[in-house]
Amino acid sequence: MPTTTPPPVKSLTVESGDDILLVIHGGAGSRGKHSTPERQAQVEKDLQRALDAGYAKLEAGASAEDAVVAAIHVMEDAPEFNAGHGAALTSDGIAQMDACLMGGDGEVGAVASVHTIKNPIDAAKAVKEQTKHVLFADPRDQEIAEWGVETRDPSYFITEQRKQSLVEAQTNGDEWEKHGTIGAVARDARGHLAAATSTGGITNQMHGRVGDTPLPGCGTYANDASVAASGTGIGEAFMRTVACHQVSDRVEFAKQTPLEAASATLDDIDARHGDGGLIVVPAHGDGVIAYNSEMMNCGYKSPTADYVQG
Ligand code: ASP
Repeated sequence: MPTTTPPPVKSLTVESGDDILLVIHGGAGSRGKHSTPERQAQVEKDLQRALDAGYAKLEAGASAEDAVVAAIHVMEDAPEFNAGHGAALTSDGIAQMDACLMGGDGEVGAVASVHTIKNPIDAAKAVKEQTKHVLFADPRDQEIAEWGVETRDPSYFITEQRKQSLVEAQTNGDEWEKHGTIGAVARDARGHLAAATSTGGITNQMHGRVGDTPLPGCGTYANDASVAASGTGIGEAFMRTVACHQVSDRVEFAKQTPLEAASATLDDIDARHGDGGLIVVPAHGDGVIAYNSEMMNCGYKSPTADYVQG
């Protein structure tokens, strides 16, 4: 079999010592043909608002879980991102969303294929905190009501932009062009880690298709002994490589740096015909943002740094 050189991995190192730290992403992929300077500026504003909301929690001494949920909330409500309001549409034209929240203590909750929950990350948190289970697919209205999460009519999630993307995907097969999933990873003042990811999946995905995002270890993972990681990109490749867990194992057992671990995992994702990005916060030391796609919306905030890239 011919061997090909994997695409170069681009990376950003987030210098932070052992201090509190929040790293977020708003999707990786190629710049869509509808990308304009105005829309990119809006993405950067929203990333900054998400960072500020999450970091304020860390500064106030809240847990890493509270910080990542606060950051995800802002991006789920912002229509530019592929999560919550503005989620990508399935081939049937509905928003079917997935989310996962995991703490470095191994406690985790997730939902898949939800279509009425305003902030799917709240449902993931409810599964983690209120049930003995890890993952619910298409939960009934009764469970959703018991979890106390806000709901909306399915039409709330659908934007004109996403409708247009669906038409283009169905006519030109453009569906992999731009992703836009959101994620956040944090280290709190106690050195505890958490990761959260939320998505509408991939434009024109088949009804019932679930990607890597809600699967612990694939699109979302946290372990206080190694790293918190969140991924974005072609979910099938992240599942086949168990991407976020792979980063963790490389750091914990192979003693790789977070950058070495993220880069090697992205090469593995490439070998599985995928691309995308990973954000990583380790138990100790600097955080990392790494991607092998054309672009990645991302940002980070620590006591000494505050940066967004749209
Ligand atoms: N990873 C997500 C999925 O496959 C999509 C993305 O990150 O854009 O569902």
